[in-house]
Amino acid sequence: MSNSRKTADRDYGFGTRAIHAGAIPDPVTGARATPIHQTTSFVFDSAEHAASLFNLQTFGNVYSRISNPTVAVLEERVASLEGARAALACASGMAAQMTAILAILKAGDHIVAASTLYGGTVGQLGIGFSRLGIETTFVDPSNPENFERAMRPNTRAVYGETLGNPLVNVLDIGAVAAVAHAHGVPLIIDNTVASPYLCNPCALGADIVVHSATKYLGGHGTTMGGLVVEGGKFPWDNGKFPEMVEPSRAYHGVKFFETFGDFGYTMKARMEVNRTFGAVLSPMSAWQLLQGTETLHLRMREHCRNALKVAQFLQQHPKVSWVNYPGLPDSPYFELAKKQFRAVDGMPGASGILTFGIEGGAAAGERFIDACEFLSHLANIGDAKTLVIHPASTTHRQLNDEELRKAGVSADMVRLSVGIEDVDDILWDIDQALDRATRGAA
Ligand SMILES: *Cc1c(COP(=O)(O)O)cnc(C)c1O
Repeated sequence: MSNSRKTADRDYGFGTRAIHAGAIPDPVTGARATPIHQTTSFVFDSAEHAASLFNLQTFGNVYSRISNPTVAVLEERVASLEGARAALACASGMAAQMTAILAILKAGDHIVAASTLYGGTVGQLGIGFSRLGIETTFVDPSNPENFERAMRPNTRAVYGETLGNPLVNVLDIGAVAAVAHAHGVPLIIDNTVASPYLCNPCALGADIVVHSATKYLGGHGTTMGGLVVEGGKFPWDNGKFPEMVEPSRAYHGVKFFETFGDFGYTMKARMEVNRTFGAVLSPMSAWQLLQGTETLHLRMREHCRNALKVAQFLQQHPKVSWVNYPGLPDSPYFELAKKQFRAVDGMPGASGILTFGIEGGAAAGERFIDACEFLSHLANIGDAKTLVIHPASTTHRQLNDEELRKAGVSADMVRLSVGIEDVDDILWDIDQALDRATRGAA
């Protein structure tokens, strides 16, 4: 724990870091909880101090669009939980992805991405960034060779998700990292659904990790936020990223890689993207997300346990035609899940998201959602509460039929984000809603 006043030579466990990393008792007041530094700006000690801060010669706070002490605790904590070098907080998961990409790509560059990404990300890459002249080729991620075939001389990033949403397909991160690295470009992994508790993509070969902290990191469905995390091992001076090496036109001629080394990418993202485009996290939101991180390890274990029980229950239910959960031994992704994810009770911890097909198709799917008593119908995942949605008519309705097919979203698909309520109550609600939804159809 870098900020600890005691310098114990010890590798702290995940739970200890989830509670302490990045934080110390407040040196001014003694407050044990991290204070909310709700201020836009910070007083300089002297004219000389101000100049050295602006020159990035001294680390310190100037203005909360660049850095803020409460936000910095969240950044250090998530970097620690990812076993990574540094992190940058952003206003949302979408802002974090935007920042991660804008830090190193420009018009004329190209991305190779999994076709099964979160619907909002498909839109951000396929429409948003293509408007800015950054083109994306989407490939079926089940075979890493598909990434290889789509690589071009102007490719500057490969993009995937640890666990897809809503397909909950598992990416072979090591194999896809090898493709990216053979072409001298970084692998960016969205680790939102697994969370740092179940998987650390940088340990498997990823270079940059992005999170929607809105989901499991926060964990209570209260606060938007995102993070960009840097592994610290990518060789930015390989000739493909001159802007990481040459003096920055956007910031005082700084050479980011030479000056900051293994956190040069984070500094470039902070100074050239967050500072310039402004999608920063508020101190209040950072504080709320910090409350969530303190119980991440406890919640993720319970999400995994409950989701596995729900998946097993659905598998034997007569009104359910199929169940997709990578923690089930007959899932095509079980072996990869076992290899890449932390075990929970001896099974691969496969997070809380699963999908299933309901007998009676789209109509029954919509009736099921209306019949739930305490399962909440809403467009979010990773909440302590169990959430349910029909993707084809909601989260993925912007996609055309071809994109829906590629994203693997069928009309009968119901997505559950299994919460941490008593599992018997979750099973009861699902059972009674299935009964009511399919009774009419029979
Ligand atoms: C929700 C989500 C995002 C977007 O995050 P926001 O915080 O909603 O902006 C990105 N990726 C995945 C996998 C998500 O589930």
